[in-house]
Amino acid sequence: MLSLQYEGIKSSIPYRALSKQRVLPGVSAVIYMQDREPEGAGDKLEEEDEWQLYASAGYASSELESEENESQEDSSEEIWFDGDDLEFEGSTVNWDSPPCPAPLGIAHVIKIGVCDHCLARISGHHSRVSGQNSGSAIREEAFHRDAELKSKIIQDYCPLCENLFEDIDNIVDRVFDTLSNTEFSTMQFGIHLPKDLIQEEDRIRSKYGAPGSYHLKGAIVESIHERIRNLEKNVDFVKEKPDVMVLVDGLTLRVDVDVRPIFLYGRYRKVSRGIPQTRWPCRACRGRAEGCDSCEETGLQYIDSVQDLIGEPIREVLGAEDTSFHGMGREDIDVRCLGSGRPFVLEVKKPSKRNLPVGDLVDLVRENALDKVEVDSLTWCTRKKVNEVKQSRSEKTYTIRFRAEGLVDIETAEQSILSLDGQVIDQETPQRVSHRRAAKIRRRKITSIDKVRFEGDEVELTMRCEAGTYVKELVHSDEGRTTPSVQSVLGTDCEVIWLDVLEIHSE
Ligand SMILES: [Zn+2]
Ligand SMILES: [Zn+2]
Repeated sequence: MLSLQYEGIKSSIPYRALSKQRVLPGVSAVIYMQDREPEGAGDKLEEEDEWQLYASAGYASSELESEENESQEDSSEEIWFDGDDLEFEGSTVNWDSPPCPAPLGIAHVIKIGVCDHCLARISGHHSRVSGQNSGSAIREEAFHRDAELKSKIIQDYCPLCENLFEDIDNIVDRVFDTLSNTEFSTMQFGIHLPKDLIQEEDRIRSKYGAPGSYHLKGAIVESIHERIRNLEKNVDFVKEKPDVMVLVDGLTLRVDVDVRPIFLYGRYRKVSRGIPQTRWPCRACRGRAEGCDSCEETGLQYIDSVQDLIGEPIREVLGAEDTSFHGMGREDIDVRCLGSGRPFVLEVKKPSKRNLPVGDLVDLVRENALDKVEVDSLTWCTRKKVNEVKQSRSEKTYTIRFRAEGLVDIETAEQSILSLDGQVIDQETPQRVSHRRAAKIRRRKITSIDKVRFEGDEVELTMRCEAGTYVKELVHSDEGRTTPSVQSVLGTDCEVIWLDVLEIHSE
């Protein structure tokens, strides 16, 4: 409260002290959350939300609104001015000066040390020349009006920005150093400033700045943009879905660069059994990077996965860090997936390249996944597609082969099986998934059954079911937890031999 007496002179001293201690730590890709605690790789969607707090699109944040309220309350505290403190290093500062663009207002902010950048944005003189140049022109004009003004400047430290604009080149250099091996065409900048600096800046600006002056955060981001444009980097600044997000900490000058993921949509056929859809960490060593004996140092329970058969060649050629695989549901490891394949989105994280022809990527996958997984085509998509794929529920057609001993009358057996056509069945959560699925009864419809074939004591049938039907359980009944079932209508034990997804009826 005491600092209010000095209108941004003495109150700026702590910042100056801090500024001298500014460290320039190595640039890192760690995301800082709002309370500036480092956070690991959390949920990407939340991370994106978090970014919006700093994003250049969010200038008019609620934070600013609350600061405006506070600065209004401040006005009642001006009674603390007692006059004695108006003497500062022999200069007289008129604290009752009018706001800019009045000449006295401009003279006042020059006296209290405002830099050219801040002068340009709060003076109310709009100019097409860049911030610093237009600020220096305004300053020259003021000196011209008042020959004494130059000698009345009480400090060369800007109370509005803590001379942060002087660091713009440095910030930009470090951003581009970090990104020297990364391909990108769009960027979004955010800046994090200490709350007390924002409050102080807002207070001085709303008292002496011209009405409608541009606030500090926006001005710094704009100044960064301008610097980059002057460097003739081929970059567009966007307010959403950038290739690269940069968060600058105005206090430490730490620069966090986040290369955003890219997404590919396609459909896969799994033509070989024994392949899980996503990477499985080794059970013995829990997927340690160095692995263990039982996983032959791979860290993987299964060497192959649909994720890696498709994702690894793509990750490698794009120079990316890792992949995530988002399938429209998944089949069991021992189940093939045929027909037109299962829709999926491959998320490629922190790619160095983002512009390879998808045809080339398909060729790479074809080579890598030969006889295991097939992908006919890929298209670039956005994160939105992940949710679409995840939330989509499609009917599926299956072929299942099982052993049913002691069937005497084939014709009756076939009629029994076909009696399930169009029926609604109740499925208790299967025992094999009960450790990860809530216990409940699901009602599912068997849309159609056809092609029942008998071969010795083996039966093969093709059927179309509602999304979410447990098909193996539909055949063997899971000890009576699925009713009715093929086993219950045949009246004999049924043992599943294999299952194929023949078609996923999406779209
Ligand atoms: Zn400034
Ligand atoms: Zn292992």
